[in-house]
Amino acid sequence: MNGQNKRTVYADHAATVPITDRVRAAIEPFLCECFGNPSSIYRYGREASRAIFTARKQIAELFGCHPQELYFTSGGTESDNLAVKGSAFAHDHTTHGQHMVATAIEHHAVLHSLRFLERCGMDVTYVMPDTNGIISPDAVLDACRDDTVLVAVMLANNEIGTIQPIRNIADAIHEYGIPLFCDAVQGMGQIPVNPIALGADMLSLSGHKIGAPRGGGLLYVRSGTPLLPLIDGGGQEMGMRSGTENTAAIVGLSQAMQDAAAETAEHARYLRGLSDALFRALECLPHCIVNGTKDPLLRLPGNVNVSFPGLDAESMVLHLDRLGIAASAGSACTAGKAALSHVLAAIGRDDAAAASSLRFTFGRENTMDDVIYIADAVKHVTETLYAMQ
Ligand code: PLP
Repeated sequence: MNGQNKRTVYADHAATVPITDRVRAAIEPFLCECFGNPSSIYRYGREASRAIFTARKQIAELFGCHPQELYFTSGGTESDNLAVKGSAFAHDHTTHGQHMVATAIEHHAVLHSLRFLERCGMDVTYVMPDTNGIISPDAVLDACRDDTVLVAVMLANNEIGTIQPIRNIADAIHEYGIPLFCDAVQGMGQIPVNPIALGADMLSLSGHKIGAPRGGGLLYVRSGTPLLPLIDGGGQEMGMRSGTENTAAIVGLSQAMQDAAAETAEHARYLRGLSDALFRALECLPHCIVNGTKDPLLRLPGNVNVSFPGLDAESMVLHLDRLGIAASAGSACTAGKAALSHVLAAIGRDDAAAASSLRFTFGRENTMDDVIYIADAVKHVTETLYAMQ
């Protein structure tokens, strides 16, 4: 394999996806002609605020919740920060003497919010997954205490795609009156996502993972859940999130959510076919280890995560990039230094396996030819890199 027969394959849909045609058509008017500030009372403002009202109503109908239980934000990171920090400060305006429980494999938007709270005096217990990447409801319940004010468990993991038993966890902790926050950013479009059905008291979503613009997201907050706003100002979003609303991102989010919900089952079947084929091809390669369970009920259909111990994930990603393939390394690059994945460490992978993980995440435009091309490319890259050792 060389650069000559190169094609382009985007296989990093867990990072972000292109805006869909339907979303583009829906948001177009709000980028230019309907540019009004939704807080203005004249026609331009009313047009924008009507669009936001409609989007909120459509999402509420999709979830079967009250529109006033939905807050638009700038994305998954902000929603996660609001849920975690807003819960802590809602209780006492001080975090001393409070306790939270979270899984050790949450996204950094949750984990780093918790680290901030720990510096303010919060006590946090991190629940470890099993070696397949699954969190046990019993382990979550065991971690809870009398002073626990929040439990945070993500719906699906962004690195290894494992799906958590959210409903069972919610039922267990609700017996003790403890609210559940669920980061569902990676689930929408691939598995059913509904905060009511999941039993989540708060649930975060991000538009750009499902074909809406980057910079738009949502936090569902069940009525009565204690939460303090983090961003103060003009009192938009019912006082929970000040700042002039991003009308286009909100309209796009609603459109993308309607489309994702309507197409979930069919989309999931298609993605599963691609992932299964890639797993089959990669597992034949020397040294390949699959990260996370392969149980179809417990893994996002579009997620493939494997390690090639002894190789370096970033070098593999760059070699694949030269062959036209966009994939992700399991390690996160922080301030120029590659940090080993906390998720792979939590499922018991040693440093060699954690430093050599590759994640491929599929979307609707990927084809079986893409899978064959990726499999050939990974074979070529890993053979070349192992031979150089
Ligand atoms: N939570 C999870 C599980 C994610 O995968 C991501 C993004 O990758 C986020 C939160 C952050 O979302 P955003 O990029 O919209 O800030």
